[in-house]
Amino acid sequence: MLIGVPKEIKTHEYRIGMTPSAVREAVHNGHKVLVQKDGAARIGFDDENYRAAGAEIIDTAEEIFARAEMIVKVKEPQANEWKMLREGQLLFTYLHLAPDPEQARGLMESGCVAIAYETVTDDRGGLPLLAPMSEVAGRMAIQAGAHSLEITQGGRGMLLGGVPGVAAAEVVILGGGVVGTNAARMAMGLEAKVTVLDKSLRRLNELDMQFGPQLNTIFATVDAIEEYVRTADLVIGAVLIPGAAAPKLLHRDDLATMKRGAVLVDVAIDQGGCFETSRPTTHADPTYVIDDVVHYCVANMPGGVARTSTQALNNATLPFTLKLANKGYRAALASDPHLRNGLNVAFGKLTYEAVAGALGETY
Ligand code: NAD
Repeated sequence: MLIGVPKEIKTHEYRIGMTPSAVREAVHNGHKVLVQKDGAARIGFDDENYRAAGAEIIDTAEEIFARAEMIVKVKEPQANEWKMLREGQLLFTYLHLAPDPEQARGLMESGCVAIAYETVTDDRGGLPLLAPMSEVAGRMAIQAGAHSLEITQGGRGMLLGGVPGVAAAEVVILGGGVVGTNAARMAMGLEAKVTVLDKSLRRLNELDMQFGPQLNTIFATVDAIEEYVRTADLVIGAVLIPGAAAPKLLHRDDLATMKRGAVLVDVAIDQGGCFETSRPTTHADPTYVIDDVVHYCVANMPGGVARTSTQALNNATLPFTLKLANKGYRAALASDPHLRNGLNVAFGKLTYEAVAGALGETY
């Protein structure tokens, strides 16, 4: 199959659909890959790396869209991209169509076959192409929180791990899923005192088995959240109710009970945020202070570490990319119900029930 990898065009998006290693795997499987010139130069994969992996370097996105049978991307296509898609052409990328009717219509009009990373499933009921970005965001949350605790950022001027003779910081993580687990791991690695609160007893059991006595696990009630947040130096918001806005676990009044210079990192901000005082921020200006509490609410945290994120994403997407290329999408979808769950649009029709419902279209 002829696979096309255009450069991402959303502002400050430096990830790319395929790394040189992924291209090499595709070429090894007998496929041809077109990669846009300087597509990943910003994250240290230059055209020479892609050529060495067997890719053909192409000057323009127009030529890639015109020639390729399958387009592999990261972000949802922008208006000028969906206008270049054609009937039957395969698109494999994050789409997030439910809140984006304009894009949905654009994809339907193109007649393309669009498979969304975020709705591909796995045997354990997880979302394997979303998980790598949660891993990145969870780990980064501690990095961002540690930095925000510094005096110059408005924080308490506290080192997460303390030093011999000085107490370590208290890190409280709300939600012990993929983000929360990765955050806990990093915070424990830095020798902070870490507590995870979750509503799922099963999840708390798993965390307890995984980390043992080094991690404090607490069932999430209003009482428990209030109690732990009051003494926390760093609070990570990492809850998710699939398909719904994040529940508000902290309200404006709660900030007054917290330590001056404490830090809130709201990773769930992409679902509206789990603190009442959260509003989305960017990597360029990631924090603001309310009532002496520093808020870090970057909605696309993985974009800040685009090289790691690209590699993590490719590890997860590559088996599916190869399956689609090796078998063709009809046979690939027929043989893999999890990949079939990724199909959102085909030949002018919405094919994913939740998306169709959200957009008021027939399914
Ligand atoms: P997950 O489903 O793996 O984990 C969510 C956890 O929250 C579950 O264990 C669940 O039991 C728990 N939970 C739900 N409601 C709760 C409540 N009221 N109190 C306590 N615990 C509760 O989800 P995840 O992959 O870890 O994602 C967490 C959030 O991070 C999501 O909103 C996701 O969209 C977001 N995220 C943001 C970024 C970013 O860049 N900002 C990147 C990746 C993920």
